[in-house]
Amino acid sequence: MNKSIRGLPFALSRRQALTRRLAGKRIAVFLDYDGTLTRIVDKPEMAVLAPSMRAIVKALADRFPVAIVSGRDRQDVHRLVGLDSLIYAGSHGLDIAGPVAGVAYDGCGEYREMLVEAGDRLRRQLTIVGGVLVECKRCSVAVHYRLVPEPERPGIMAAVDAVLAEQTELRATAGNMVIEIQPKVNWNKGKAVSWILRALNLETADVVPIFIGDDATDEDAFAAIDGRGIGVVVTGPAENRATAAGYRIDGPEEVGVFLRFLAEMNGSESGN
Ligand SMILES: [Mg+2]
Repeated sequence: MNKSIRGLPFALSRRQALTRRLAGKRIAVFLDYDGTLTRIVDKPEMAVLAPSMRAIVKALADRFPVAIVSGRDRQDVHRLVGLDSLIYAGSHGLDIAGPVAGVAYDGCGEYREMLVEAGDRLRRQLTIVGGVLVECKRCSVAVHYRLVPEPERPGIMAAVDAVLAEQTELRATAGNMVIEIQPKVNWNKGKAVSWILRALNLETADVVPIFIGDDATDEDAFAAIDGRGIGVVVTGPAENRATAAGYRIDGPEEVGVFLRFLAEMNGSESGN
């Protein structure tokens, strides 16, 4: 059920209640990357993980299953986190791999060729537009236009529309100064979380999934675990939108404190 972010209790001030709720349970922890484990930065390559945060995530993964669920390419976010004991779900969950046998999902393999073609075509067509950046990712093509002057932006939309008119199995979604072209598949972070829980045999009543994230795309994950899990939305004090999360947290520093609390909590081990 969706609530307003501002009305949510702070996760850090509910640690006693959460300890009671999680007593005798097993947890599985799902984490967004950008804006959750790292601060939001101007350029994606600047979002490096602090060594202290890496140590906390590692301590957590030593006790419980931990998955990173990101819009980034899986290999990119794996490299940034730098821990091999985690499951990584890249491209909003379309591309999943982990250290456990059988935990691998490739939701965009059959679309690779058309994505590459769409990216090449957009690169060719948009070379005349200054400031535009066409980024070919594993499961999508991102057209960044933050540096493109306003009057030239409609030309970018037109070029994207022209490509999509021919590649009818692809669709475009608008983000923050970016158009992302993705396969038309019925998949999202929520479905990825459910898939991972199934793959790890963690769909039992004694397992409490926990998802922490700051993006609009994380809402699918909060909704997927609503009722049985714990959703924690990372948000600034000014933000107020509807969310399916049950708790809020201020930013990556508080996320670190919360993850340490989970890592040091007494309770059942994951057993894996
Ligand atoms: Mg994020």
